[in-house]
Amino acid sequence: MLIISRWLICMFKKHLYPINKREYLNDKRNNNIEKCILCAIRDNDEKITKLEVYRNEKFIVTINLYPYNPGHIMIFPKRHIEDIRELNKKEKIIFRELTDRSLDLLEEEYNPHGFNIGINLGRASGASIKHLHRHIVPRYHDELGFIDILSGSKIYIEKPEESYKRLKDRFKKI
Ligand SMILES: [Zn+2]
Repeated sequence: MLIISRWLICMFKKHLYPINKREYLNDKRNNNIEKCILCAIRDNDEKITKLEVYRNEKFIVTINLYPYNPGHIMIFPKRHIEDIRELNKKEKIIFRELTDRSLDLLEEEYNPHGFNIGINLGRASGASIKHLHRHIVPRYHDELGFIDILSGSKIYIEKPEESYKRLKDRFKKI
């Protein structure tokens, strides 16, 4: 079993890129931000990795720096608000429409079998960023969950910078 496990991990490592979260956490560009990271993206702060694929008058779409899956994006209002109930009527409409359009574009680029769409409110929900944001995560039937058990770490098949390159042009179509 151990040999098979090692062989499997070896085979997958040839094709998959395991993201080392520590690599990003140690990245000074993202660590030196004192203000909210989403506000820093909005303000085009040079200290952060640029993964923004779209912005309009009220909202921004960015690749998640710590993606759960390839194509994992976040949609957030430019205004720093921390609760979905603080969105005004116009923002609510744009948020909804931008979510639909993002799903279309992710489907075109990644062909996923499904999506997780979600907002975490408050620390107890797992939110690590206070600034309101909606996650969209493409999901697949054949995700490599068992690798988690075999290797003790999750393996991702795409760097966020790759997702950025793939989606930047697509979002020009909005
Ligand atoms: Zn903010």
